[in-house]
Amino acid sequence: MKNINAYAAQTANEDLAPFKIDRREPGPGDVEIEILFCGVCHSDIHTARNEWGGTKYPCVPGHEIVGKVTRVGKEVTKYQEGDTVGVGCFVDSCGHCENCEEDLEQYCLKGPTATYNSPSPLDREVHTYGGYSSHIVVKEEFVLKISDKLPLNAVAPLLCAGITTYSPLRRWNVKKGDKVGVVGLGGLGHMAVKLASSMGAEVTMLSRSPRKEQDANELGAAHFQLTTSEENMKNMAGRFNLIINTVSAQHDYNQYLNLLKTDGVMVLLGIPPKPSEVQAAQLIMKRRSLVGSLVGGIKETQEMLDYCAEHGIVSEVEMINIDQINEAYERTLSADVRYRFVIDMKSLKNQN
Ligand code: NAP
Ligand code: ZN
Repeated sequence: MKNINAYAAQTANEDLAPFKIDRREPGPGDVEIEILFCGVCHSDIHTARNEWGGTKYPCVPGHEIVGKVTRVGKEVTKYQEGDTVGVGCFVDSCGHCENCEEDLEQYCLKGPTATYNSPSPLDREVHTYGGYSSHIVVKEEFVLKISDKLPLNAVAPLLCAGITTYSPLRRWNVKKGDKVGVVGLGGLGHMAVKLASSMGAEVTMLSRSPRKEQDANELGAAHFQLTTSEENMKNMAGRFNLIINTVSAQHDYNQYLNLLKTDGVMVLLGIPPKPSEVQAAQLIMKRRSLVGSLVGGIKETQEMLDYCAEHGIVSEVEMINIDQINEAYERTLSADVRYRFVIDMKSLKNQN
């Protein structure tokens, strides 16, 4: 497909603006998708603005994609025209390394192909373009089945925010009665609250924003604690089995490590562009762990989507048209979104 509509950043300092891209013709194993909805992840902002370094321009972000299949290659068996499908953060991996063989494509030893900003061996473009576009062509193995039971706009954020929080909750075996802290009530944070509470955990929302207390409770948090109060932080020492940390900016990890029980684990999900120091004693004195986690593999993403369909879990979304994307970035940066912006891709059709 040539000359399809998209939105791109041309440099780190410019707003996103209309841009035309080409997509490859579907090969034998490919699925072509018309994109209906695309969520706006904070990673889109970090990348568009080159905050992590290494952004290739033009940059078309977007990795929370839901759409309808428009064409399939002749070897495709799982999908047909008209199916509702999703695409998350990865569109390819080597398939043969020890991580790929264990369904951990996100940790592919040869480097997975990210949905945007990755070198693309298959596309005609030099690097991959993401979901702020009318169509995408993806290998069948990296396409997810989406149930029609749930509102599709609110399903889109599950493809990144959902799986990124589901995966560590499963990996660290969250169960009924576990005390789980979630730091930062944004896109990832609100999914962590919903998912952890659906698994029976007693969830505490740890936030800087007092205005979010009622929302946190409605999302399923049993408690809400302001992290700006020293006294609160002191009273919570040693309370949690697991902390899911979604903060996108540089901050002090030690004050949260201090909230873990003996053998407690803090999982870093947020990727602040600047590093922070960790005090060894915070880990050593109570045998605590500080770990990280990157989205989830395709098999686990499908498991999460099926789990959410079964339990009626979706994201809380604010719908926008594509021409509101720059304003949405600013509002995300000031933590003023309840709790994920999702672009209605119909709005891209009017573009010249
Ligand atoms: P988001 O919607 O902007 O939410 C981030 C939240 O962090 C904010 O709502 C705010 O919550 C809190 N926060 C922001 N700045 C802070 C600061 N200076 N100090 C303390 N708290 C602060 O972002 P998101 O889309 O959820 O993404 C969060 C991070 O995860 C980003 O860095 C993103 O790149 C990363 N990410 C990682 C993965 C992965 O695989 N590991 C996947 C997706 C995204 P309060 O107002 O409640 O304090
Ligand atoms: Zn994301």
